[in-house]
Amino acid sequence: MDQLLAPAPLSDEVADDEVSSEPRSLLDRLFDRGLLVRTGVDGLYGRSGDFESVVEAIDRLATKLGAGDGAESLRFPPGMSRPAFERSGYLKGFPNLAGTIHCFCGNDADHARLLSCIEAGTDWTGDQAASEIVLTPAACYPLYPVAAARGALPEAGLLFDLQSYCFRHEPSLEPTRMQMFRMREYVRMGSPDQVLAFREMWLERGTAMMRELGLPIAVDPANDPFFGRAGRMLANNQRAQGLKFELNVPVNSEDKPTACLSFNYHQDHFGTIWDIKQADGEVAHTACVGFGLERITLALLRHHGLDIKAWPAALRERLWG
Ligand code: ATP
Ligand code: ZN
Ligand code: MG
Repeated sequence: MDQLLAPAPLSDEVADDEVSSEPRSLLDRLFDRGLLVRTGVDGLYGRSGDFESVVEAIDRLATKLGAGDGAESLRFPPGMSRPAFERSGYLKGFPNLAGTIHCFCGNDADHARLLSCIEAGTDWTGDQAASEIVLTPAACYPLYPVAAARGALPEAGLLFDLQSYCFRHEPSLEPTRMQMFRMREYVRMGSPDQVLAFREMWLERGTAMMRELGLPIAVDPANDPFFGRAGRMLANNQRAQGLKFELNVPVNSEDKPTACLSFNYHQDHFGTIWDIKQADGEVAHTACVGFGLERITLALLRHHGLDIKAWPAALRERLWG
């Protein structure tokens, strides 16, 4: 029987590390320790071996939790087809977060102009054209067209296991809000009953996992940050209908806890867009659970301290066996 870890409070290393009176931010302390590595861009960081060893351990825990469910494991690169992205509807809800891959497609004269712009320090990007690839905004986005291409779902529906680097243009000084980060997901497709049972089960599993890691958590109704005035209504609907829940942990502060896992019921949104049918011909419903691998890692660092070798033995045992 595993020894239970008591939820650890926010560690006070902010004060401890500092000789001057100016407390250093969490991000600065992560840089100081080399856990994250500066690139000059907010939200774009290198990760140390220690940081990655925690990410990998959490990824393994997520695998262990889902073992036995018979999920089909798929891994996509962090880019997806632009036509698929356009059809997915992401640009309706989140045009401000999307990232596209542009490439140089010019001739010799265009090349010379590009180089002279670089030389002069002026804008060189004018000759860049949108390629057929965009950056994946959530691990499940490349999956729907792939599932749709297989035809109607079997009676039991489908279950997938995904992990991908994702991109969102939301630069921030909070280390928990990165522009490029990894999301581990399980995605269920089937009848409303099937996908809701899946979401319920993962709410329990995710909550238990985080408690066993000694993290103080709260499960809260949530909404996606839909863009613009029309977006406010979408967000309110999503919340009122209980379509999204987040598992929150204080990381940057006690009053603004961070969503470390999300549980999303899309109803027939993706089923309709991608024409995914249940075995009986009805439109498929979908749901996904997303683990923010960096966010869970950061929550552990924040609560158990920045020296992972000094973490409680029971926690180390749980992560690395
Ligand atoms: P938030 O409300 O904090 O912006 P979100 O609702 O956008 O989070 P989801 O879209 O549900 O999050 O993404 C699934 C998971 O991916 C989240 O639970 C979180 O753990 C992680 N995640 C989302 N955005 C980021 C980010 N910018 N940096 C790191 N992890 C993220
Ligand atoms: Zn998803
Ligand atoms: Mg967000």
